[in-house]
Amino acid sequence: MLLNALQARSLYEFAYREKFAVLAINADSPAGIHDCLLAAKQVECPVIIETSLWQLEGISFGAGDALRGMRRYIADTAILANSDEFQSVPAIFHTDHIKGPKTREILGSAVTGLAVALNDVVLKLSPSSISLDASELSADQNIEFMNYLISLSKQSGRPVTLEMEAGVDSGLTSEDEVRRLVEGVEGKNPGYLYIFAPGLGSRHGHSADGYGEFSPDAVARNVKIIAACAGREIGIGLHGSSGLTDEQLRMAVLNGIIKVNWATDSLVSRSQFASEYYRENAERLQVSNKAFKVTAMDNGVNAYVSQHYVPVVAKRMRLLGGEGKNRGFWEYSASSGERRQDDSS
Ligand SMILES: [Zn+2]
Repeated sequence: MLLNALQARSLYEFAYREKFAVLAINADSPAGIHDCLLAAKQVECPVIIETSLWQLEGISFGAGDALRGMRRYIADTAILANSDEFQSVPAIFHTDHIKGPKTREILGSAVTGLAVALNDVVLKLSPSSISLDASELSADQNIEFMNYLISLSKQSGRPVTLEMEAGVDSGLTSEDEVRRLVEGVEGKNPGYLYIFAPGLGSRHGHSADGYGEFSPDAVARNVKIIAACAGREIGIGLHGSSGLTDEQLRMAVLNGIIKVNWATDSLVSRSQFASEYYRENAERLQVSNKAFKVTAMDNGVNAYVSQHYVPVVAKRMRLLGGEGKNRGFWEYSASSGERRQDDSS
């Protein structure tokens, strides 16, 4: 089931308490979303479907228009995740790397709700949780932007749940910087930050030289600093997990990583299975071949990719400790939902 912003808070808290991380996949096609939900169902764990600007604008969703892309992404994820087949899977739709001049409009609209008209009904869609790419922002701009999103949430009465990032590709973020960012948001607007993603020495994409700077200890250090600033424990988001070893990941999760972004290796995997399919079926793809239609149809390649890709996703979900966490999450979510209502009344 697609989680709303308050349920997303419960999931991030629950992952921290239970010491597992939710896999966040940049699923950039409807078939990709389906495959990630299927893997999560098999592993009985929660999942995050996330998207960056270039995926919002990709042909499968926005075709050049990021806002149209986000509407389609959320609607597509909701229809699949809320269907009987995937009801048991806690699913988050999260915005990932969004930067540049359109960021304010895209994320502002995401907070106040993207209107979708259907017959006589107008629905307002919002992501379960939101982050932005702060790599081109100063610390002050980053803080200002987070507080801007919170002010929109307050004005519109629509809850927002945030991930804040700090130079994830620029080596280890200093203690002073982490403190300044967390205090800049929590000091002014406490209770909206649920993930903090500092630079931990990992990098987006693959590196031929490995990730010598990355250490699970840095995760534990950050958890402590953030808790001291915010007055509550907030889990860590890990960007650029593709090149890390299984052992590094396992340790990092035990030390406080609650969300692991996964894009490069996922794309490598899907594209390799697709090219394998076309290579192996070259003969059947001749128009004179009797099997041409079933081989050429969208379902041909996507069914093949799904069959091979789902086990890869499931394996990574297990590595992050998420197996079997669904039941516990739904119980936690119900009780924390009641607690949140008590707090607001
Ligand atoms: Zn990232």
